[in-house]
Amino acid sequence: MKKMVMPILLIVSVLGLVAFAAINDGSAAGYQTGPDPRWAIHDENRPLPPVVDPGPAGPPVPAPSDAVVLFDGKDLSQWTDGKGKPAKWKVENGYMEVTAKTGSILTKKGFGDCQLHVEWAAPTEVKGESQGRGNSGAFLMNIYEVQVLDSYNNKTYADGSTAAIYGQYPPLVNACRKPGEWQTYDIIFHRPRFGNDGKVIQPARLTVFHNGILVHDNAVLSGPTENKARPPYKAHADRLPLSLQDHACPVRYRNIWIRELLE
Ligand code: MG
Repeated sequence: MKKMVMPILLIVSVLGLVAFAAINDGSAAGYQTGPDPRWAIHDENRPLPPVVDPGPAGPPVPAPSDAVVLFDGKDLSQWTDGKGKPAKWKVENGYMEVTAKTGSILTKKGFGDCQLHVEWAAPTEVKGESQGRGNSGAFLMNIYEVQVLDSYNNKTYADGSTAAIYGQYPPLVNACRKPGEWQTYDIIFHRPRFGNDGKVIQPARLTVFHNGILVHDNAVLSGPTENKARPPYKAHADRLPLSLQDHACPVRYRNIWIRELLE
């Protein structure tokens, strides 16, 4: 009889641990329910995502017929500088390039739930390190950032690396191509929902593919993405512009399109 007690205790303990983990990170349901509380924001000790070679870059991915084309390589007519004036980034040879200190650029149109396709390239000339190398970002609703960074042989804190949901979720893997090579983000975004009292009813959610590889699986955001802070949600409009960040690095973008999802 005694012989049976240890194995049973072991099984019960393991089952308990599995159940605890499932409740706490939502993994059993296939999604994460909030930033991992075991790690402080921008924790330098947090393990970096494993490197995965995504294979070579392909040609631009054609926009589907129901997409809103935000940039087709020709002009910035869909964008402003955020103060209602024309966006000042450089456009040449089918891409736009961040012009340092001219500010982030915002779409003229606002968006809520969406599927977003972005192609970008980190500067060919490798300059700076950590957050200083190829930093930019795609901000859904100008609030929630999917980090753009050159994480190819460039160490930085995990929740600020390429394709991180900045300050909240490192990507599941580091699928970064070499500097100068074109990379893709395919993002599925569900905006947060707010009640009449301004309190959040449903948090924002993000699924992200980097170079075709899943890096966020329906991640639940704790609120706006910020540097060194995870502030709570503040009620906002149902539609807000998408923005691309000027972080003073000459990151290039091409072929940006968005599909509005039925809400
Ligand atoms: Mg950034």
